[in-house]
Amino acid sequence: MRNAPHHLLNTPDIEIWPGGLLRARSNHDARLLARASHVLRRKSDGRYLAVQLPRGLMPLITRLPEEPGIELALNLLDAHLSQPSRMPPPNGELPLAQLQQRLDQLGLDSSEYSEQTGLPLVAEPAHLQLAGFDRYRRPLWLTGNAARSWQRMQHAAAIDDIALDAISGYRSHDYQLGIFERKRARGLSVADILTVNAAPGYSEHHGGNALDISTPGEPPAEESFEHTAAFDWLQRRAGDFHFHMSYPRDNPHGIVYEPWHWCWRPAGSF
Ligand SMILES: [Zn+2]
Repeated sequence: MRNAPHHLLNTPDIEIWPGGLLRARSNHDARLLARASHVLRRKSDGRYLAVQLPRGLMPLITRLPEEPGIELALNLLDAHLSQPSRMPPPNGELPLAQLQQRLDQLGLDSSEYSEQTGLPLVAEPAHLQLAGFDRYRRPLWLTGNAARSWQRMQHAAAIDDIALDAISGYRSHDYQLGIFERKRARGLSVADILTVNAAPGYSEHHGGNALDISTPGEPPAEESFEHTAAFDWLQRRAGDFHFHMSYPRDNPHGIVYEPWHWCWRPAGSF
């Protein structure tokens, strides 16, 4: 029998990781992570907040009850643990209200940005599935559909002697907001940051269906990827797996050409 797929349970502030995937940052962490069935991780900076051990929850920070979003995360974990069959969590998306609020705080006018770029705000999925590991041996998270399609596509490419590497899959709103907040703290304006970084909330990576792809020996996220046999293969075959290049040359969103960025879409959805 196949192993049950690993799931990441998502909330606006905190991710609930299955045990065995996160790297320890100290010896103390290592002992606890080795025994944890789940790890609660703060999304904005990746800090480990608590571990679920056989004997119960163990906080890893001193003020766990005051942690924003902790109640929601613990309720979700309890509900998950009480399911006898460990069924995959229900599909769905997280609400966008909190993101909207933080964009306002940054002074980023989201309706103006949407109008300029034609890009919609992208909600985060309520849970993600482990789709294997990326080039850097980090867990790769995608929606269930995208994860299955990616694994099938990678396998089909391998049969044709093409190695496809994942560079980056799902990324949270908080991850992108964190980049903005750090740069703002260094004195950069939102307009300056937007020339280099996508606005938080507008990346297809937030939705868990987008994937940056490369091939061994090729640097990540470079236009030169378009000259590789892997790119040639993707152009011919990715559509069979419902992956499409989102930002071809001269795309209407004004986003630079990204031959490495592919997104899973259900058949007949465009
Ligand atoms: Zn991308």
